[in-house]
Amino acid sequence: MNLILMGLPGAGKGTQAEKINEKYQIPHISTGDMFRLAIKEGTELGKQAKAYMDQGDLVPDEVTIGIVKERLSKDDCKNGFLLDGFPRTIAQAEALQSLLSDMKESIDCVLHVDVPEEKLVERLTGRRICPTCGATYHVIYNPPKEEGICDKDGSALIQREDDQPETVKTRLRVNIKQAQPLLDFYQEKGYLVTVDGDQSIDKVFEDIQSKLEK
Ligand SMILES: [Zn+2]
Repeated sequence: MNLILMGLPGAGKGTQAEKINEKYQIPHISTGDMFRLAIKEGTELGKQAKAYMDQGDLVPDEVTIGIVKERLSKDDCKNGFLLDGFPRTIAQAEALQSLLSDMKESIDCVLHVDVPEEKLVERLTGRRICPTCGATYHVIYNPPKEEGICDKDGSALIQREDDQPETVKTRLRVNIKQAQPLLDFYQEKGYLVTVDGDQSIDKVFEDIQSKLEK
């Protein structure tokens, strides 16, 4: 089963990826892991990617696609794969289509874990951190016993700059703008399957399973 997983930050993609990996025994391949592996193995493409990253530059598509190809050719992908964080652009999506067709493979399904923007803002801005011990809380999902106070050492909890509403909203808008053309692309090809991500983790996974098994 060849899958692509899509969803905005805070949609719970990582958690669902773990569950899919466990249940269907297909590797969860995130872009970051893929680059790290290529660099660690010292492949030619890995070296090229590292040179760009060391300079703080974006890795060009031809290098990224090459690394994807190397990764998907590995033995653990025999029964399929779950791509996460790739493709990011239409150009990459088109390159993936032709790469897979060269491999006599194709995408079975693009799973989109959909959560309304205002819910994502709620999830992403609720995080609180203890500046003393580093413990993390969430005002809704994992609140401390006493509001604003660390359970372990009584320090006043803080909200990181990254978790401030305006920062979160800007980040989400950028992601939405980037993801929409891809969602349209896969919708047009008939691969897109949308799952309601605004439910409990287990319910989301149940929905994923029933859609995959169709
Ligand atoms: Zn603390």
